[in-house]
Amino acid sequence: MTWPTSRDTELFDIIDAERDRQNRTVQLIASENFTSPAVMEATGSVLTNKYSEGYPGKRYYGGNEVIDRAEDLARERVKALFGAEHANVQPHSGANANMAVYLGLLEPGDTVLGLRLDQGGHLTHGSPVNASGILFRFVSYGVTPSDERIDFDQVRDLALEHRPKIIVAGATAYPRIIDPKPFREIADEVGALFMFDAAHVAGLIAGGVHPNPVEHADVVTFTTHKTLRGPRGGCILTRSEHAAAIDKAVFPGLQGGPLDHVIAAKAVAFREAAQPEFSDYARSVVANASALAEALGGHGLRLVSGGTDNHLVLVDLRSFDEELSGKKARLALDRAGISLNENTVPDDPRPPYITSGLRIGTPAVTTQGMGPAEMATIAELIHRVLTNREDEAVLTAVRSEVDALCSAHQPYPT
Ligand SMILES: *Cc1c(COP(=O)(O)O)cnc(C)c1O
Repeated sequence: MTWPTSRDTELFDIIDAERDRQNRTVQLIASENFTSPAVMEATGSVLTNKYSEGYPGKRYYGGNEVIDRAEDLARERVKALFGAEHANVQPHSGANANMAVYLGLLEPGDTVLGLRLDQGGHLTHGSPVNASGILFRFVSYGVTPSDERIDFDQVRDLALEHRPKIIVAGATAYPRIIDPKPFREIADEVGALFMFDAAHVAGLIAGGVHPNPVEHADVVTFTTHKTLRGPRGGCILTRSEHAAAIDKAVFPGLQGGPLDHVIAAKAVAFREAAQPEFSDYARSVVANASALAEALGGHGLRLVSGGTDNHLVLVDLRSFDEELSGKKARLALDRAGISLNENTVPDDPRPPYITSGLRIGTPAVTTQGMGPAEMATIAELIHRVLTNREDEAVLTAVRSEVDALCSAHQPYPT
């Protein structure tokens, strides 16, 4: 074999720099996590070389007898993990998983009910700039102004008025448990299908700390890389009656060849999520989010819905500092080595690229072994940055405290 012999230092230095950044800064982006070495080993394996359009036993290419075993293993493991009748592990991402459901179960122009973007919903739940909103007629429900939780009276009223073909539950920035039962009841009342997008909370469901929507929903989609702690990718669980339509929508409807190396890594992650230690992990993620919420509240920051019962908190900065947008706050925190994202709060007066809020999540810091004491430290550091955001000396001091905190919890020591 004559591979190129000179190492591509230009690129691999960049990868080293990113490992260093992950080791030395605090990762509070609620949709991120650190994967295990086994997940990364599968992702970097020879399976990346294979073409396997189709499904196990029904491929359009030869030589897939080994790949079939990997995809079957992934499917069996995820079905057992969530108690599902059918699984499609091929979606390249959460967005693709959602599009495949719409493509498989709807006609263009059909009506769908989903959570509004500025109330915590996702782009793929009908945003006008996303294919979901361009191809289908989305109607949006929101949260109540009083307690900032999903307004089920509104969901029911809109469902009765618009008669959607699918009701979508699930969120990208919602700090509370989403109970699938009332959605199921409303869907049954109006003859709609019920889709639960568990992208963020799949790991909390697998770990047994959030209700399992598989018992109630016709279709459940999720990403494998957020709380579930696997490789970047998507997955769809369905009742048997929808299996053929969903499989056809993923391939050939939406994608070409599957990413077999990623499917293998999903199989690794599904096995890891089935271990008893993963339930401990999921519990700790939630406990850490509660500790963070309490500490941030103690520093005078207002939390949307007053707290959290999942892996994230949503901070509404307006009452803390009228001048401080989410974007300004994120940029200052980034300089201090604290990585998170700005986020709209319910009925945010600022546009989605500025926002009035911060979304702060605990999946990654929990994986690296931090606990409630570190959450109190992180809350204090965040508060110090927000109150001194123009002061370079303070940002530098916080940056070195972040360094000290992280050096005791490096995810990927070199
Ligand atoms: C993250 C997310 C997605 C999309 O996942 P990608 O892998 O980024 O495409 C879809 N739905 C929800 C609710 C999400 O939070």
